[in-house]
Amino acid sequence: MAPAISTAALSAHTPIVISGPSGAGKSTILARLFADYPSKFGFSISHTTRAPRGAEQDGREYYFVTHDEFQKLVQDKGFVEHAQFGGNCYGTSVKAVQDIAEKGRVCILDIEMEGVKQVANHPTFPRPRFLFLSPPSMEILEKRLRSRATDKEEAILKRLNQASVEMDFANSGEAPHDKIVVNDDLDKAYEEVREFVVGNEA
Ligand code: ADP
Ligand code: 5GP
Repeated sequence: MAPAISTAALSAHTPIVISGPSGAGKSTILARLFADYPSKFGFSISHTTRAPRGAEQDGREYYFVTHDEFQKLVQDKGFVEHAQFGGNCYGTSVKAVQDIAEKGRVCILDIEMEGVKQVANHPTFPRPRFLFLSPPSMEILEKRLRSRATDKEEAILKRLNQASVEMDFANSGEAPHDKIVVNDDLDKAYEEVREFVVGNEA
């Protein structure tokens, strides 16, 4: 059985949730943020059943697990939230967020739309601040996904389909986002994200 979420530790530094279509630039912007603030934040390392891509390492970008291992964690109530995306399972473990909070760092989650909804409605997880990173257009998103050259054609098409759903949600009145940043010029988008995230802790 997973430990209950210690809200005291997490509430001390309001967690930040960054979401947005695959290819919007979340990883790129977060990598810059972590390089600029090496001891302020903790990246919530999710569990996923998808295969590692490029230079990804187990325990750094993700914990890469089998379907059975993932399902065991679901049954043990080990996840704060979990969802399916592009045919794979993804989830934020209680342990991942707890470890970050106990180090006195601000927890940053990079999760998709269903996870955003679950976190926003979670009975005990402290309400985070939500940032949505948007691509300038669907055409540019497609170009970026293709030039990243990490996904097969089928995976790119699934991601593009899901991107429209995520964009519609972000533009609906139901989304919990506190800020939407359009990632057109990278330096400008980074500065807007940095201000939102660091302003929280100033
Ligand atoms: P995500 O983590 O949201 O899936 P990535 O950070 O992997 O997205 O970015 C997708 C691709 O787009 C990467 O190849 C990245 O280098 C590129 N990229 C990110 N931001 C920009 C930008 N502002 N202009 C051009 N290319 C970008
Ligand atoms: P990718 O396969 O490109 O790394 O991630 C695909 C999508 O899954 C992205 O939108 C990313 O934000 C989301 N994701 C990553 N980890 C989690 C998680 O733990 N929970 C949820 N709900 N989504 C996640």
